[in-house]
Amino acid sequence: MYLPSPDAGTSSEVNKVIHRLKTQLALSILLILLMTIALIGLSSNWFISHEFVKYIQEQEHIRSENISVDLGRQYDPLKKSWNLDYVHIIGMYSLYDGYILKVSDEEGTVIWDAENHDMSLCGKVMDEVSTRMENRGEQGSFITHTYAIFQEEQKVGNVSVTYYGPYFLSEHDFSFLKTMNTVLVVASVLAGVASVFVGFLLARRIARPVTRTAYIAKQIAEGNYEIRFEQATKTQELNELVTAINHMAEALSKQENLRKRLTTDMAHELRTPLTAVGSHLEAMIEGLWEATPERLKSCHDEVKRLGTLVADLERLAKIEDENLLLDKTKMDLLEVVGIVMENMKAEAEKKKLSLRVSGVVSVVYADKARMHQVVTNLLSNAIKYTPEGGSVTVEVLDQSDCGVVKVTDTGIGIPEQELPLVFERFYRTDKSRNRKLGGAGIGLTIVKSIIAAHAGTVSAESDASGGSSFTIRIPKGDV
Ligand code: ADP
Repeated sequence: MYLPSPDAGTSSEVNKVIHRLKTQLALSILLILLMTIALIGLSSNWFISHEFVKYIQEQEHIRSENISVDLGRQYDPLKKSWNLDYVHIIGMYSLYDGYILKVSDEEGTVIWDAENHDMSLCGKVMDEVSTRMENRGEQGSFITHTYAIFQEEQKVGNVSVTYYGPYFLSEHDFSFLKTMNTVLVVASVLAGVASVFVGFLLARRIARPVTRTAYIAKQIAEGNYEIRFEQATKTQELNELVTAINHMAEALSKQENLRKRLTTDMAHELRTPLTAVGSHLEAMIEGLWEATPERLKSCHDEVKRLGTLVADLERLAKIEDENLLLDKTKMDLLEVVGIVMENMKAEAEKKKLSLRVSGVVSVVYADKARMHQVVTNLLSNAIKYTPEGGSVTVEVLDQSDCGVVKVTDTGIGIPEQELPLVFERFYRTDKSRNRKLGGAGIGLTIVKSIIAAHAGTVSAESDASGGSSFTIRIPKGDV
Protein backbone atom coordinates (compact mmCIF):
# COMPACT_ATOMS: atom_id res chain seq x y z
CA MET A 1 0.00 0.00 0.00
CA TYR A 2 1.41 3.35 -0.92
CA LEU A 3 0.95 6.51 1.04
CA PRO A 4 2.83 9.61 0.04
CA SER A 5 4.90 10.38 3.11
CA PRO A 6 2.37 10.39 5.95
CA ASP A 7 4.14 12.15 8.78
CA ALA A 8 5.46 10.09 11.67
CA GLY A 9 2.79 11.24 14.11
CA THR A 10 -0.03 10.30 11.78
CA SER A 11 1.43 6.89 10.87
CA SER A 12 1.80 5.98 14.54
CA GLU A 13 -1.81 7.05 15.01
CA VAL A 14 -2.79 4.78 12.09
CA ASN A 15 -0.82 1.89 13.62
CA LYS A 16 -2.58 2.42 16.92
CA VAL A 17 -5.99 2.28 15.22
CA ILE A 18 -4.95 -0.84 13.26
CA HIS A 19 -3.81 -2.48 16.49
CA ARG A 20 -7.06 -1.57 18.24
CA LEU A 21 -9.15 -2.90 15.36
CA LYS A 22 -7.13 -6.12 15.25
CA THR A 23 -7.58 -6.71 18.98
CA GLN A 24 -11.30 -5.97 18.77
CA LEU A 25 -11.82 -8.34 15.84
CA ALA A 26 -9.76 -11.13 17.43
CA LEU A 27 -11.61 -10.69 20.74
CA SER A 28 -14.98 -10.75 19.00
CA ILE A 29 -14.11 -14.00 17.25
CA LEU A 30 -12.81 -15.45 20.52
CA LEU A 31 -16.02 -14.43 22.29
CA ILE A 32 -18.15 -16.06 19.60
CA LEU A 33 -16.02 -19.19 19.90
CA LEU A 34 -16.30 -19.27 23.71
CA MET A 35 -20.05 -18.94 23.40
CA THR A 36 -20.10 -21.79 20.87
CA ILE A 37 -17.99 -23.97 23.16
CA ALA A 38 -20.27 -23.18 26.11
CA LEU A 39 -23.25 -24.10 23.94
CA ILE A 40 -21.63 -27.37 22.85
CA GLY A 41 -20.71 -28.11 26.51
CA LEU A 42 -24.27 -27.46 27.67
CA SER A 43 -25.85 -29.47 24.88
CA SER A 44 -23.45 -32.41 25.40
CA ASN A 45 -24.25 -32.33 29.13
CA TRP A 46 -27.91 -32.35 28.31
CA PHE A 47 -27.30 -35.23 25.94
CA ILE A 48 -25.47 -37.19 28.65
CA SER A 49 -27.99 -36.53 31.40
CA HIS A 50 -31.00 -37.28 29.20
CA GLU A 51 -30.30 -39.31 26.12
CA PHE A 52 -27.26 -41.21 27.33
CA VAL A 53 -28.88 -42.14 30.66
CA LYS A 54 -31.99 -43.28 28.76
CA TYR A 55 -29.79 -45.38 26.53
CA ILE A 56 -27.96 -46.87 29.55
CA GLN A 57 -31.28 -47.73 31.22
CA GLU A 58 -32.46 -49.45 28.07
CA GLN A 59 -29.20 -51.37 27.91
CA GLU A 60 -29.65 -52.46 31.54
CA HIS A 61 -33.09 -53.80 30.76
CA ILE A 62 -31.88 -55.61 27.62
CA ARG A 63 -28.93 -57.03 29.56
CA SER A 64 -31.25 -58.38 32.29
CA GLU A 65 -33.48 -60.01 29.68
CA ASN A 66 -30.46 -61.49 27.91
CA ILE A 67 -29.29 -62.95 31.23
CA SER A 68 -32.65 -64.71 31.67
CA VAL A 69 -32.53 -66.03 28.06
CA ASP A 70 -28.95 -67.29 28.57
CA LEU A 71 -29.96 -68.95 31.82
CA GLY A 72 -32.95 -70.60 30.07
CA ARG A 73 -30.52 -72.28 27.68
CA GLN A 74 -28.74 -73.90 30.64
CA TYR A 75 -31.78 -75.94 31.58
CA ASP A 76 -32.08 -79.42 30.12
CA PRO A 77 -35.84 -80.28 29.99
CA LEU A 78 -35.21 -83.97 29.36
CA LYS A 79 -32.98 -84.46 32.35
CA LYS A 80 -34.91 -81.70 34.19
CA SER A 81 -31.60 -80.36 35.46
CA TRP A 82 -29.45 -77.22 35.17
CA ASN A 83 -25.98 -76.98 33.71
CA LEU A 84 -24.66 -75.44 36.91
CA ASP A 85 -21.13 -74.74 35.56
CA TYR A 86 -22.54 -72.43 32.91
CA VAL A 87 -25.05 -70.86 35.32
CA HIS A 88 -22.02 -70.12 37.50
CA ILE A 89 -20.10 -68.56 34.56
CA ILE A 90 -23.11 -66.38 33.62
CA GLY A 91 -23.52 -65.34 37.25
CA MET A 92 -19.84 -64.41 37.63
CA TYR A 93 -19.67 -62.45 34.35
CA SER A 94 -22.79 -60.55 35.36
CA LEU A 95 -21.34 -59.88 38.81
CA TYR A 96 -18.18 -58.35 37.33
CA ASP A 97 -20.47 -56.11 35.24
CA GLY A 98 -22.42 -54.97 38.34
CA TYR A 99 -25.41 -57.34 38.15
CA ILE A 100 -26.00 -59.54 41.21
CA LEU A 101 -27.98 -62.64 40.28
CA LYS A 102 -30.06 -65.04 42.26
CA VAL A 103 -31.36 -67.97 40.13
CA SER A 104 -34.11 -70.26 41.38
CA ASP A 105 -35.96 -73.11 39.67
CA GLU A 106 -39.68 -73.45 39.08
CA GLU A 107 -40.22 -74.78 42.60
CA GLY A 108 -38.45 -71.80 44.10
CA THR A 109 -35.31 -73.67 45.10
CA VAL A 110 -32.25 -71.40 44.79
CA ILE A 111 -29.81 -73.01 42.37
CA TRP A 112 -27.24 -70.19 42.22
CA ASP A 113 -26.91 -67.05 44.39
CA ALA A 114 -24.08 -64.56 43.87
CA GLU A 115 -24.21 -63.42 47.51
CA ASN A 116 -23.99 -66.97 48.79
CA HIS A 117 -21.29 -67.84 46.32
CA ASP A 118 -18.90 -64.99 47.01
CA MET A 119 -20.22 -62.58 49.61
CA SER A 120 -17.07 -60.44 49.73
CA LEU A 121 -16.85 -60.06 45.93
CA CYS A 122 -20.52 -59.00 45.86
CA GLY A 123 -19.86 -56.43 48.55
CA LYS A 124 -16.80 -55.18 46.69
CA VAL A 125 -18.71 -54.83 43.39
CA MET A 126 -21.60 -53.04 45.11
CA ASP A 127 -19.17 -50.70 46.89
CA GLU A 128 -17.33 -49.89 43.66
CA VAL A 129 -20.53 -49.15 41.73
CA SER A 130 -22.08 -47.00 44.44
CA THR A 131 -18.83 -45.04 45.05
CA ARG A 132 -18.46 -44.43 41.31
CA MET A 133 -22.03 -43.17 41.04
CA GLU A 134 -21.87 -41.09 44.22
CA ASN A 135 -18.68 -39.47 42.94
CA ARG A 136 -20.64 -38.54 39.87
CA GLY A 137 -23.23 -36.91 42.12
CA GLU A 138 -25.93 -39.52 41.54
CA GLN A 139 -27.95 -40.60 44.56
CA GLY A 140 -29.37 -44.06 44.01
CA SER A 141 -29.76 -47.46 45.64
CA PHE A 142 -29.64 -51.10 44.67
CA ILE A 143 -32.89 -52.33 43.15
CA THR A 144 -34.00 -55.82 42.28
CA HIS A 145 -36.09 -56.98 39.31
CA THR A 146 -37.27 -60.52 38.85
CA TYR A 147 -37.45 -62.08 35.37
CA ALA A 148 -39.00 -65.44 34.45
CA ILE A 149 -36.65 -67.96 32.80
CA PHE A 150 -38.11 -69.77 29.80
CA GLN A 151 -36.95 -72.86 27.98
CA GLU A 152 -38.81 -73.20 24.68
CA GLU A 153 -41.75 -71.17 25.92
CA GLN A 154 -41.95 -73.18 29.11
CA LYS A 155 -41.21 -71.35 32.32
CA VAL A 156 -38.40 -73.16 34.11
CA GLY A 157 -37.41 -70.74 36.83
CA ASN A 158 -36.80 -67.11 37.92
CA VAL A 159 -33.81 -64.86 38.13
CA SER A 160 -33.59 -61.83 40.43
CA VAL A 161 -31.25 -59.22 39.05
CA THR A 162 -29.98 -56.61 41.54
CA TYR A 163 -28.18 -53.52 40.28
CA TYR A 164 -27.63 -49.88 41.19
CA GLY A 165 -30.69 -47.88 40.12
CA PRO A 166 -32.16 -45.91 38.54
CA TYR A 167 -29.05 -46.51 36.40
CA PHE A 168 -25.35 -47.07 36.78
CA LEU A 169 -22.34 -46.54 34.58
CA SER A 170 -19.80 -49.26 33.94
CA GLU A 171 -16.04 -48.70 33.69
CA HIS A 172 -16.54 -48.64 29.90
CA ASP A 173 -19.24 -45.99 30.09
CA PHE A 174 -17.07 -43.90 32.33
CA SER A 175 -14.08 -44.11 30.03
CA PHE A 176 -16.36 -43.23 27.08
CA LEU A 177 -17.60 -40.13 28.89
CA LYS A 178 -14.07 -39.23 29.93
CA THR A 179 -12.82 -39.54 26.34
CA MET A 180 -15.73 -37.42 25.14
CA ASN A 181 -14.95 -34.71 27.66
CA THR A 182 -11.24 -34.79 26.82
CA VAL A 183 -12.05 -34.48 23.11
CA LEU A 184 -14.33 -31.54 23.89
CA VAL A 185 -11.68 -29.77 25.97
CA VAL A 186 -8.89 -30.41 23.45
CA ALA A 187 -11.12 -29.28 20.56
CA SER A 188 -12.07 -26.14 22.49
CA VAL A 189 -8.46 -25.26 23.23
CA LEU A 190 -7.45 -25.89 19.60
CA ALA A 191 -10.42 -23.89 18.32
CA GLY A 192 -9.55 -21.09 20.77
CA VAL A 193 -5.96 -20.91 19.50
CA ALA A 194 -7.16 -21.13 15.88
CA SER A 195 -9.75 -18.40 16.45
CA VAL A 196 -7.18 -15.99 17.86
CA PHE A 197 -4.93 -16.76 14.90
CA VAL A 198 -7.75 -16.43 12.33
CA GLY A 199 -8.99 -13.31 14.13
CA PHE A 200 -5.61 -11.68 13.78
CA LEU A 201 -5.32 -12.74 10.13
CA LEU A 202 -8.80 -11.42 9.36
CA ALA A 203 -8.13 -8.26 11.28
CA ARG A 204 -4.92 -7.76 9.34
CA ARG A 205 -6.84 -8.17 6.09
CA ILE A 206 -9.64 -5.81 7.08
CA ALA A 207 -8.17 -3.40 9.60
CA ARG A 208 -5.22 -2.28 7.50
CA PRO A 209 -7.11 -1.29 4.32
CA VAL A 210 -10.04 0.16 6.30
CA THR A 211 -7.78 2.31 8.42
CA ARG A 212 -5.73 3.37 5.39
CA THR A 213 -8.93 4.23 3.55
CA ALA A 214 -10.09 6.32 6.48
CA TYR A 215 -6.69 8.01 6.59
CA ILE A 216 -6.82 8.71 2.83
CA ALA A 217 -10.39 10.04 3.08
CA LYS A 218 -9.19 12.37 5.84
CA GLN A 219 -6.27 13.52 3.71
CA ILE A 220 -8.64 14.18 0.80
CA ALA A 221 -10.92 16.16 3.09
CA GLU A 222 -7.88 18.24 4.01
CA GLY A 223 -7.21 18.97 0.33
CA ASN A 224 -4.51 16.42 -0.52
CA TYR A 225 -6.12 15.21 -3.77
CA GLU A 226 -3.00 13.51 -5.11
CA ILE A 227 -3.09 10.77 -2.49
CA ARG A 228 -4.04 7.28 -3.79
CA PHE A 229 -4.46 3.74 -2.55
CA GLU A 230 -1.98 1.99 -4.81
CA GLN A 231 -2.40 -1.70 -4.07
CA ALA A 232 -5.42 -3.93 -4.29
CA THR A 233 -6.58 -5.54 -1.06
CA LYS A 234 -7.51 -9.21 -0.78
CA THR A 235 -11.18 -8.46 -0.13
CA GLN A 236 -13.40 -7.59 -3.08
CA GLU A 237 -15.72 -5.28 -1.14
CA LEU A 238 -12.75 -3.37 0.23
CA ASN A 239 -11.32 -3.14 -3.29
CA GLU A 240 -14.56 -1.48 -4.35
CA LEU A 241 -14.29 0.95 -1.46
CA VAL A 242 -10.67 1.67 -2.36
CA THR A 243 -11.58 2.21 -6.03
CA ALA A 244 -14.40 4.54 -5.03
CA ILE A 245 -12.05 6.55 -2.81
CA ASN A 246 -9.45 6.73 -5.59
CA HIS A 247 -12.11 7.88 -8.07
CA MET A 248 -13.30 10.49 -5.61
CA ALA A 249 -9.75 11.78 -5.17
CA GLU A 250 -9.31 11.86 -8.95
CA ALA A 251 -12.62 13.67 -9.52
CA LEU A 252 -11.84 16.20 -6.81
CA SER A 253 -8.35 16.69 -8.20
CA LYS A 254 -9.82 17.31 -11.68
CA GLN A 255 -12.36 19.74 -10.26
CA GLU A 256 -9.64 21.54 -8.39
CA ASN A 257 -7.46 21.81 -11.52
CA LEU A 258 -10.44 22.99 -13.53
CA ARG A 259 -11.23 25.63 -10.94
CA LYS A 260 -7.64 26.83 -10.93
CA ARG A 261 -7.47 26.83 -14.72
CA LEU A 262 -10.76 28.64 -14.97
CA THR A 263 -9.45 31.44 -12.78
CA THR A 264 -6.18 31.68 -14.76
CA ASP A 265 -8.01 31.56 -18.09
CA MET A 266 -10.52 34.17 -16.97
CA ALA A 267 -7.73 36.45 -15.83
CA HIS A 268 -5.94 35.94 -19.13
CA GLU A 269 -9.08 36.50 -21.20
CA LEU A 270 -9.86 39.71 -19.36
CA ARG A 271 -6.33 41.03 -19.14
CA THR A 272 -5.62 41.20 -22.91
CA PRO A 273 -8.55 43.41 -23.97
CA LEU A 274 -8.33 45.45 -20.75
CA THR A 275 -4.61 46.15 -21.32
CA ALA A 276 -5.29 47.13 -24.92
CA VAL A 277 -8.16 49.49 -24.02
CA GLY A 278 -6.26 50.86 -21.00
CA SER A 279 -3.06 51.68 -22.92
CA HIS A 280 -4.97 53.21 -25.87
CA LEU A 281 -7.04 55.44 -23.57
CA GLU A 282 -3.93 56.41 -21.56
CA ALA A 283 -2.09 57.42 -24.73
CA MET A 284 -5.07 59.50 -25.81
CA ILE A 285 -5.49 61.16 -22.39
CA GLU A 286 -1.77 62.05 -22.26
CA GLY A 287 -2.05 63.55 -25.72
CA LEU A 288 0.38 61.06 -27.29
CA TRP A 289 -2.37 59.75 -29.55
CA GLU A 290 -5.07 61.65 -31.21
CA ALA A 291 -8.54 60.32 -30.40
CA THR A 292 -9.39 59.38 -33.97
CA PRO A 293 -12.68 57.56 -34.71
CA GLU A 294 -10.64 54.44 -35.74
CA ARG A 295 -8.81 54.34 -32.38
CA LEU A 296 -12.01 54.88 -30.45
CA LYS A 297 -13.68 52.14 -32.54
CA SER A 298 -10.83 49.75 -31.74
CA CYS A 299 -11.35 50.47 -28.03
CA HIS A 300 -15.05 50.02 -28.47
CA ASP A 301 -14.47 46.63 -30.22
CA GLU A 302 -12.39 45.39 -27.29
CA VAL A 303 -15.05 46.53 -24.81
CA LYS A 304 -17.67 44.75 -26.95
CA ARG A 305 -15.56 41.59 -26.95
CA LEU A 306 -15.40 41.81 -23.16
CA GLY A 307 -19.16 42.15 -23.09
CA THR A 308 -19.54 39.04 -25.32
CA LEU A 309 -17.19 37.09 -23.10
CA VAL A 310 -19.14 37.98 -19.97
CA ALA A 311 -22.42 37.19 -21.76
CA ASP A 312 -21.03 33.80 -22.88
CA LEU A 313 -19.93 33.03 -19.35
CA GLU A 314 -23.33 33.96 -18.00
CA ARG A 315 -24.98 31.75 -20.60
CA LEU A 316 -22.72 28.82 -19.70
CA ALA A 317 -23.34 29.29 -15.98
CA LYS A 318 -27.08 29.45 -16.62
CA ILE A 319 -27.05 26.34 -18.79
CA GLU A 320 -24.95 24.37 -16.32
CA ASP A 321 -27.27 25.51 -13.59
CA GLU A 322 -30.48 24.77 -15.45
CA ASN A 323 -29.43 21.56 -17.11
CA LEU A 324 -31.04 19.72 -14.27
CA LEU A 325 -34.37 21.19 -15.34
CA LEU A 326 -34.71 20.07 -18.96
CA ASP A 327 -38.03 20.72 -20.63
CA LYS A 328 -38.09 17.50 -22.63
CA THR A 329 -40.67 16.89 -25.34
CA LYS A 330 -40.90 14.76 -28.45
CA MET A 331 -39.08 16.79 -31.10
CA ASP A 332 -37.72 16.32 -34.59
CA LEU A 333 -34.01 17.01 -35.01
CA LEU A 334 -34.39 17.59 -38.76
CA GLU A 335 -36.96 20.32 -38.08
CA VAL A 336 -34.66 22.11 -35.61
CA VAL A 337 -31.74 21.88 -38.07
CA GLY A 338 -33.98 23.41 -40.78
CA ILE A 339 -34.90 26.37 -38.57
CA VAL A 340 -31.29 27.06 -37.57
CA MET A 341 -30.17 26.78 -41.19
CA GLU A 342 -32.72 29.44 -42.15
CA ASN A 343 -31.40 31.74 -39.42
CA MET A 344 -27.79 31.30 -40.55
CA LYS A 345 -28.41 31.61 -44.26
CA ALA A 346 -27.57 35.31 -44.41
CA GLU A 347 -24.29 34.84 -42.56
CA ALA A 348 -23.26 31.98 -44.85
CA GLU A 349 -24.15 33.97 -47.91
CA LYS A 350 -21.92 36.81 -46.72
CA LYS A 351 -18.98 34.36 -46.92
CA LYS A 352 -20.23 32.78 -50.12
CA LEU A 353 -20.53 29.40 -48.41
CA SER A 354 -22.74 26.66 -49.73
CA LEU A 355 -25.08 25.48 -46.95
CA ARG A 356 -26.69 22.05 -47.36
CA VAL A 357 -28.93 19.89 -45.23
CA SER A 358 -29.70 16.23 -45.79
CA GLY A 359 -31.15 13.32 -43.86
CA VAL A 360 -34.38 12.02 -42.44
CA VAL A 361 -36.85 12.86 -39.70
CA SER A 362 -35.48 11.79 -36.33
CA VAL A 363 -37.75 12.17 -33.33
CA VAL A 364 -36.06 12.22 -29.95
CA TYR A 365 -37.15 13.09 -26.43
CA ALA A 366 -35.22 16.30 -25.71
CA ASP A 367 -35.35 19.97 -24.77
CA LYS A 368 -36.10 21.75 -28.06
CA ALA A 369 -34.69 25.15 -27.08
CA ARG A 370 -31.44 23.54 -25.92
CA MET A 371 -31.13 21.48 -29.11
CA HIS A 372 -31.64 24.71 -31.04
CA GLN A 373 -28.74 26.21 -29.10
CA VAL A 374 -26.53 23.17 -29.82
CA VAL A 375 -27.14 23.21 -33.57
CA THR A 376 -26.69 27.01 -33.64
CA ASN A 377 -23.31 26.79 -31.92
CA LEU A 378 -22.05 24.00 -34.19
CA LEU A 379 -23.28 25.69 -37.35
CA SER A 380 -21.98 29.13 -36.42
CA ASN A 381 -18.53 27.58 -35.71
CA ALA A 382 -18.59 25.80 -39.05
CA ILE A 383 -19.41 29.09 -40.81
CA LYS A 384 -16.90 31.02 -38.71
CA TYR A 385 -13.98 28.66 -39.36
CA THR A 386 -14.64 27.99 -43.05
CA PRO A 387 -13.01 30.39 -45.49
CA GLU A 388 -14.96 32.01 -48.32
CA GLY A 389 -16.24 29.66 -51.00
CA GLY A 390 -16.27 26.59 -48.78
CA SER A 391 -19.19 24.45 -47.87
CA VAL A 392 -21.05 23.41 -44.73
CA THR A 393 -23.25 20.30 -44.62
CA VAL A 394 -25.62 19.16 -41.91
CA GLU A 395 -26.80 15.58 -41.91
CA VAL A 396 -29.58 14.15 -39.73
CA LEU A 397 -29.63 10.36 -39.19
CA ASP A 398 -32.24 8.30 -37.42
CA GLN A 399 -30.73 5.30 -35.63
CA SER A 400 -32.61 2.68 -33.63
CA ASP A 401 -31.61 4.06 -30.24
CA CYS A 402 -30.64 7.65 -30.99
CA GLY A 403 -30.94 10.64 -33.27
CA VAL A 404 -27.71 11.89 -34.89
CA VAL A 405 -26.76 15.33 -36.19
CA LYS A 406 -23.47 15.68 -38.06
CA VAL A 407 -22.13 19.12 -39.02
CA THR A 408 -19.32 18.95 -41.58
CA ASP A 409 -17.34 21.83 -43.06
CA THR A 410 -14.44 22.33 -45.43
CA GLY A 411 -12.83 24.85 -43.08
CA ILE A 412 -9.47 25.30 -41.42
CA GLY A 413 -9.68 22.00 -39.50
CA ILE A 414 -8.47 21.16 -36.02
CA PRO A 415 -5.08 19.57 -35.26
CA GLU A 416 -5.62 15.97 -34.12
CA GLN A 417 -3.99 16.41 -30.70
CA GLU A 418 -6.32 19.35 -29.97
CA LEU A 419 -9.54 17.53 -30.87
CA PRO A 420 -10.31 16.36 -27.31
CA LEU A 421 -9.60 19.84 -25.93
CA VAL A 422 -11.95 21.95 -28.03
CA PHE A 423 -14.86 21.22 -25.68
CA GLU A 424 -13.08 22.73 -22.69
CA ARG A 425 -13.83 26.25 -21.45
CA PHE A 426 -11.84 29.03 -23.21
CA TYR A 427 -10.04 26.55 -25.44
CA ARG A 428 -9.15 27.87 -28.85
CA THR A 429 -6.97 25.99 -31.27
CA ASP A 430 -5.03 29.08 -32.19
CA LYS A 431 -5.69 31.87 -29.77
CA SER A 432 -4.34 34.78 -31.77
CA ARG A 433 -6.02 33.57 -34.95
CA ASN A 434 -9.35 33.01 -33.33
CA ARG A 435 -9.32 36.14 -31.24
CA LYS A 436 -9.85 37.97 -34.51
CA LEU A 437 -12.82 35.72 -35.21
CA GLY A 438 -14.27 36.79 -31.92
CA GLY A 439 -14.82 33.49 -30.11
CA ALA A 440 -14.08 33.12 -26.41
CA GLY A 441 -13.89 29.33 -26.48
CA ILE A 442 -17.19 28.69 -24.74
CA GLY A 443 -19.57 27.66 -27.54
CA LEU A 444 -18.49 23.99 -27.60
CA THR A 445 -18.45 23.82 -23.78
CA ILE A 446 -22.11 24.81 -23.87
CA VAL A 447 -22.77 22.12 -26.54
CA LYS A 448 -21.06 19.45 -24.44
CA SER A 449 -22.90 20.47 -21.30
CA ILE A 450 -26.33 20.35 -22.98
CA ILE A 451 -25.63 17.01 -24.68
CA ALA A 452 -24.35 15.51 -21.42
CA ALA A 453 -27.55 16.62 -19.68
CA HIS A 454 -29.46 14.61 -22.31
CA ALA A 455 -27.20 11.60 -21.65
CA GLY A 456 -25.92 11.92 -25.22
CA THR A 457 -22.45 12.18 -26.74
CA VAL A 458 -20.60 14.71 -28.86
CA SER A 459 -17.44 14.05 -30.80
CA ALA A 460 -15.18 15.98 -33.15
CA GLU A 461 -13.25 14.74 -36.17
CA SER A 462 -10.86 16.49 -38.48
CA ASP A 463 -8.33 15.39 -41.04
CA ALA A 464 -5.03 16.81 -42.16
CA SER A 465 -6.45 17.97 -45.51
CA GLY A 466 -8.69 20.37 -43.57
CA GLY A 467 -12.33 20.47 -42.66
CA SER A 468 -13.90 19.29 -39.45
CA SER A 469 -17.02 17.47 -38.49
CA PHE A 470 -18.93 17.45 -35.20
CA THR A 471 -21.37 14.64 -34.40
CA ILE A 472 -23.96 14.66 -31.65
CA ARG A 473 -26.00 11.63 -30.59
CA ILE A 474 -29.18 12.05 -28.54
CA PRO A 475 -30.73 8.93 -27.03
CA LYS A 476 -34.36 8.49 -28.04
CA GLY A 477 -35.36 7.96 -24.41
CA ASP A 478 -39.12 7.50 -23.91
CA VAL A 479 -40.04 8.20 -27.56
P1 ADP B 1 -15.25 29.84 -30.02
O1 ADP B 1 -16.19 30.78 -29.43
O2 ADP B 1 -13.81 30.21 -29.91
O3 ADP B 1 -15.62 29.39 -31.39
P2 ADP B 1 -15.92 27.17 -29.26
O4 ADP B 1 -15.96 26.56 -27.93
O5 ADP B 1 -17.14 27.16 -30.07
O6 ADP B 1 -15.35 28.61 -29.06
O7 ADP B 1 -14.76 26.46 -30.05
C1 ADP B 1 -13.52 26.19 -29.45
C2 ADP B 1 -12.42 26.15 -30.45
O8 ADP B 1 -12.55 24.99 -31.28
C3 ADP B 1 -12.45 27.30 -31.41
O9 ADP B 1 -11.78 28.42 -30.90
C4 ADP B 1 -11.74 26.73 -32.62
O10 ADP B 1 -10.34 26.85 -32.44
C5 ADP B 1 -12.14 25.28 -32.60
N1 ADP B 1 -13.26 25.00 -33.51
C6 ADP B 1 -14.55 24.85 -33.17
N2 ADP B 1 -15.30 24.56 -34.28
C7 ADP B 1 -14.47 24.51 -35.30
C8 ADP B 1 -14.61 24.23 -36.70
N3 ADP B 1 -15.80 23.96 -37.26
N4 ADP B 1 -13.50 24.25 -37.48
C9 ADP B 1 -12.28 24.49 -36.92
N5 ADP B 1 -12.07 24.78 -35.62
C10 ADP B 1 -13.13 24.77 -34.82
